Amino acid sequence: MPTYDLIVIGSGPGGYVCAIRAAQLGLKVACVEGRETLGGTCLNVGCIPSKALLHASHMLHEAQHNFARMGLIGNAPDVDWDGMQGYKAETVTTNTKGIEFLFKKNKIDWIKGWATIEAPGKVKVGDTVYDTKAIVIATGSEPSPLKGVEVDNDKGAVVDSTGALVLARVPKTMAVIGAGVIGLELGSAYARLGTKVTVIEYLDNITPGMDGEVQKQFQKILSKQGLTFIMGAAVQSAANGKVTYKLRKDDSEHSLDADVVLVATGRRPYVDGLGLEALGVAMTDRGQIKIDDHWQTNVPGIYAIGDCVPGPMLAHKAEDEGMAAAEVIAGKQGHVNYDVIPGVIYTTPEVASVGLTEEAAKESGRKIKIGKFPFLGNARAKAMFQSEGFVKLIADADTDRILGCHIIGPNAGEMIHEICVAMEFGAAAEDVAMTCHAHPTTSEAVREAALACGDGAIHA
Ligand code: FAD
Repeated sequence: MPTYDLIVIGSGPGGYVCAIRAAQLGLKVACVEGRETLGGTCLNVGCIPSKALLHASHMLHEAQHNFARMGLIGNAPDVDWDGMQGYKAETVTTNTKGIEFLFKKNKIDWIKGWATIEAPGKVKVGDTVYDTKAIVIATGSEPSPLKGVEVDNDKGAVVDSTGALVLARVPKTMAVIGAGVIGLELGSAYARLGTKVTVIEYLDNITPGMDGEVQKQFQKILSKQGLTFIMGAAVQSAANGKVTYKLRKDDSEHSLDADVVLVATGRRPYVDGLGLEALGVAMTDRGQIKIDDHWQTNVPGIYAIGDCVPGPMLAHKAEDEGMAAAEVIAGKQGHVNYDVIPGVIYTTPEVASVGLTEEAAKESGRKIKIGKFPFLGNARAKAMFQSEGFVKLIADADTDRILGCHIIGPNAGEMIHEICVAMEFGAAAEDVAMTCHAHPTTSEAVREAALACGDGAIHA
C-alpha cells in the first residue's frame, strides 16, 4: 500500500484542482471520490449540465424570437427533449473524462468509494486504510431541505436542482421555490422551453446579496420573459401538484398548481460519514468546517476547502482554495483574495458582479461615486437585441479606487473579469477609463461606466 503525501476527499472543482496542483508540486497524491465519475457537483449535476440546458434553450429562443428579426426565415426547431438530454449528458461526460485524463497525466491515484477519516493521516475507503501525511476535505454540499416539502427526484414531481436537470419531459407548469441563482437559471431555461414558470420567494427581492438596482432590473427583465414572481411568500407545503404558501405581509394563505415543483432554497455543506465529530473537528453553527487562514482545521494535518467551508458556494472559489491549500501543504505560499471573487448568473442577459454592492459600500461608511452606463448606448448589445441592462461601477470618491462592479447584460460573465483584474491591481476607475477598448464590443460599456465615474460617458 503506498503512503501518500496528500489524500484529497472529493473530486469536485475544489478537490480535483487541489490534487492536480499538489501533484504538479511534486507530492504523491490520491483523490477519493464516492460518485461514479470525477468532477463533483459542478461537473455532474451543477454548473455544467445547467449551462448546457441554458445554452440549448437560449438557442431555441433565438430561433423562435430573433432569427426573423435578422432576416433569417424558416421554421424554428422543435424541442426533442431526449436529444437535448443527450447533448447535456455528452457535455458532462467529455468534462468528467477530461478530469480522468488530467489525473492520469499528473499520476494521481483515483480511489473509488466513500472515505472516512480514521485519524489524522489515516483515510479509510471500504476495508482499506490509506496512510497519508496530509488530508484535504473537499466534500462539497447538498441541496438544503425545506420544512414541509419532501423532495423525490425519482418521481419527478417535487425535485431539487439534481432532479430538475433530468425531468422525464418538459413540464407545462413549474413552481420554483427560491429566487436565488440556481432557481432562476433553471427556471429561465424551462421558461424558454415553453414551461409556465412561477417563482415563489420568501424575501422581497430576488438574488439576495446582489446590488439592489441589479435585483430590480433583473426581475423586470425576467418578468418580461414570462416568469411570474410571488414575493414575500413562505411556502408551507408542496405535494400532489399543489404548492401552498402564506404571504408574509398579511399571513393570508394561497395555493398554486404546478406539474413540477423545484425546491431551490440553497445548499448546505455535505460532511456525512467523514467521522469529523469523533476527530473533534470544529464546525461553525451553519454546519461548515472551520478553517484557519491556511485552510487547516483545528486538527493538524487536516485541511478543508470549497462548499464545505465558509464563503460563497461557487466552483471557482473552491478551485482557488484547492490551489492555495495544495501550495501551503507543499511548503509554499497559498493565496486567495476573497474580496475579488466574481459571481455570475448565466441567464439571458447574464448578471455578473464583483466586490462591494452600492448598499455594502455605503454601509461601510465610505464616500463612493458610481459610474453607470446602459447597454442602450452600446452598438453591439443593440445588434444582439440585448440592450436592457447596464454596467455599474462603484469607486472610492476620494481615491478613485474601484470597489465593485455589477453588470446585467450580454456577456456580463466574461466582461466582469476585466474589473477583477483591475481590482487585483488596485486600479482606479480612471485606469479602466484610459484603457483603449475594441469597438464594437460589449466591453466598451465597462469603459463607459468607468468614464462615467470621471468626466462622463461618451455615448450616454
Ligand atoms: P462538490 O463539487 O460538491 O464536490 C464534492 C465531491 O465530494 C462530490 O463529488 C461528492 O460525491 C464527493 N464526496 C463527498 N463526501 C465524500 C466522501 N466521504 N468520500 C468520497 N467522496 C465524497 N458554481 C459556479 O461557480 N458556477 C455555476 O454556474 C454554478 N452552477 C451551479 C448549478 C447547480 C444546479 C448547482 C447545484 C450548483 C452550481 N454551482 C455553480 C455551485 C458549484 O457546483 C459548487 O460551488 C462546487 O461544485 C463546489 O465544489 P466542491 O469541490 O467544494 O464540491
